[in-house]
Amino acid sequence: VEKTKEEMPVVEKITVGHVHLSGCTGCLVSFADNYEGLFKILDDYADLVYALTLADVRHIPEMDVALVEGSVCLQDKSSVEEIKEAREKAKVVVALGGCAAYGNITRFCRGGQWNQPQMESYVPIAELIDVDLYIPGCAPTPQQIRNVCIMAYLLLKGNDEQKELAGA
Ligand code: SF4
Repeated sequence: VEKTKEEMPVVEKITVGHVHLSGCTGCLVSFADNYEGLFKILDDYADLVYALTLADVRHIPEMDVALVEGSVCLQDKSSVEEIKEAREKAKVVVALGGCAAYGNITRFCRGGQWNQPQMESYVPIAELIDVDLYIPGCAPTPQQIRNVCIMAYLLLKGNDEQKELAGA
């Protein structure tokens, strides 16, 4: 017999943020393309606590998972500081998409104010911080992003067996 929502055990939610560096927002759009799956994640498993593109939260809060979109433009000191702050404040950092994972796909800094022709100005986030999980692709598929969110959830909230399966 299928249980109603009220009968299901209460699940402890994790907090998730989207950190936007030198990326095109395509990764965020792909994340949103999970449609009902995204609503289920946000209803039952996660609270979105930081996403400059979606909500007016100006300072990076403490959070469980940071989904980082975009490479780091070394000419933009605020981006360099922001990725380091995200690492300090997030338990799990995910390189979301090819720009964050490998750098050099999107070649404009946030707002276009630092249009740098030199490819070497854009580096993957792993050149500045430790990264826990990578999602390759430009953009990654909605399912890939969802699967990594589930993996991050299991790393943080799963039982020992689930943590082992998730690679802890
Ligand atoms: Fe855009 Fe592709 Fe970079 Fe994602 S990986 S920010 S979709 S260019």
